[in-house]
Amino acid sequence: DIPKDLLTLVEDVLFNRNENATEALTEYAEQVTGGGKKLVKDLKWRDAPVEERLSHSLVKGITEFIIEDTEEVRLKLPSAISVIEGPLMDGMNIVGELFGDGKMFLPQVVKSARVMKQAVGHLTPFIEEEKKLADDTSAKGKILLATVKGDVHDIGKNIVGVVLSCNNYDIVDLGVMVPANKILEEAKKHKVDIIGLSGLITPSLDEMVFMASEMERLDFKIPLLIGGATTSKVHTALKIDPMYKGPVVHVLDASKSVAVASTLLSEAKNDFIIKTKEEYKVTRERRLANAKVKEFAKIELAREKKYKIDWATYNPPKPKELGVQVFNDYSIAEISKFIDWTPFFSSWQLKGKYPNIFNNKVVGEEAKKLFQEAQSLLRRIIDEKWLTAKAVIGLFPANAITDDDIEVYDPNNDERVISTLCNLRQQSKKAENLPYYCLTDFVAPQKSNKQDHIGMFAVTTGIGIEKWVKHFEEKNDDYSAIMLKSLADRLAEAFAELMHKRVRTEFWGYVNNEELSNDELISEKYAGIRPAPGYPACPEHSEKAKLFEILKVEENIGIQLTESFAMYPAAAVSGWYFSHPESRYFGINRIAEDQKLDYLKRKGTEFEVRLLNPLLDN
Ligand code: SAH
Repeated sequence: DIPKDLLTLVEDVLFNRNENATEALTEYAEQVTGGGKKLVKDLKWRDAPVEERLSHSLVKGITEFIIEDTEEVRLKLPSAISVIEGPLMDGMNIVGELFGDGKMFLPQVVKSARVMKQAVGHLTPFIEEEKKLADDTSAKGKILLATVKGDVHDIGKNIVGVVLSCNNYDIVDLGVMVPANKILEEAKKHKVDIIGLSGLITPSLDEMVFMASEMERLDFKIPLLIGGATTSKVHTALKIDPMYKGPVVHVLDASKSVAVASTLLSEAKNDFIIKTKEEYKVTRERRLANAKVKEFAKIELAREKKYKIDWATYNPPKPKELGVQVFNDYSIAEISKFIDWTPFFSSWQLKGKYPNIFNNKVVGEEAKKLFQEAQSLLRRIIDEKWLTAKAVIGLFPANAITDDDIEVYDPNNDERVISTLCNLRQQSKKAENLPYYCLTDFVAPQKSNKQDHIGMFAVTTGIGIEKWVKHFEEKNDDYSAIMLKSLADRLAEAFAELMHKRVRTEFWGYVNNEELSNDELISEKYAGIRPAPGYPACPEHSEKAKLFEILKVEENIGIQLTESFAMYPAAAVSGWYFSHPESRYFGINRIAEDQKLDYLKRKGTEFEVRLLNPLLDN
């Protein structure tokens, strides 16, 4: 498709065919400058008055001219601060409105915020010179954000921070793994108006309850906002709200955060606070009424009605390679082929299944753009080796020794027990013919006299990420920082998928010719599962410590476990491998008191009972 004359010129350069090749091509290029219609059209907005240009940059998320335009306005206006208060805020208000009306989407808002931050970054030295402290700005209020102790996830929190700050709230972001006393100290020090807590894993729910009780004890009055994937209105109403007399509000997602914050800091706040307290009270009462109807099977009965596999007619496959294997510096390019993109879009609050999302009337265009930008960042991650991927897997002889516990044996001496894994069992009352699942059901019992096996794995693609996140944050580029983290998360899940496939086909080798497309892998059309401690089939997090010990995960690949058993770096996945073709994922939402007591006995004295709280009704 390349015009003949241009083709010749290009080939001359590529193949070094004559001395003047470069010059000739440059000359040609000059003739066609501006011929790219798009370029001319795109820059028309540059002729508008500077205030409009600022607004345009903000709404379109263009950083290219922001410093020069900001400077131009600064020289025009009486003070640097008035640039923020005037044209920049006007622009951000448009962004806020469009987002509120669903005419703009999260990726665009985060990009607008990047433009805003760079403009403010340029103005800050002048503002300081004007001897006006940041506190004197027209900020609508100061909001402290933190991911609670023991938790490392911050994509959601960072998004909320960006969305709020581009709505003119001052954000004090304390980062991740922040203990309650630190949050409260900083809240006092900065005189914040609102505290927002974030968390992803279930133990964080308890930490939030603790935070609320600390706020009550220390006589705080300011609102407490609750957000993050495992948080819910029900949990907030049931467990957090009763602990604190001040306002407590569950915030469903980033787009709701502005409305909640602005109401809480407005004249109308009292109505809202009373209404929310009342709403949570009703939720509690309703829950109490329902709790009476909720029934559990006694744990003995649930065990009797376990999922029964006919072990007499089944021979568990023996792994081809037993023991622990470490993979250092795995190819990210290879891993990226296994990415499941759908959750990537949902992390950016674009709803739809990949690749159909591109045809979606509402979010399609934005999804395409986001995807292209993700691809180009992914290329850089791969080409410039930003991230290091490491994995450790292990395959061991194992048998169920009781209904719910699995013994894991030394591969070199299958008499020697190296660990006993404790699983929970479903207990919520089911129809007569349905089984009460427990992961242990999928491993051959010792008394079957069949030697079965179990696998375990931990993978991370987050090694090296800190440096780049910092790099972007220093450049006031939250958009790229969040993009990088969301890609690293995707890569970690993809790596888990890839290693699972290799385990099935090579290391355990219980399937020979598995020809599954990535779509089929994503929809789990293979034999076996890889349940992850903390997820529904094995919701108690401390079991993760056992696999960390057996695989020496920290020593081998550098993932650490926090006191709440979150993995750090956050872009990490760990879990068990079960090979039985009938093994499947299921969920355990609640357990009854009898199973709790039984579990405590099995886990021993070091186990912290709080880890069962998310599974208990009271
Ligand atoms: N393809 C998706 C997988 C999401 S689920 C993605 O890329 O995000 C993430 C992991 O959670 C799975 O790989 C599996 O290890 C685990 N998992 C899923 N459902 C589970 C369940 N019910 N119980 C335990 N672990 C589960």
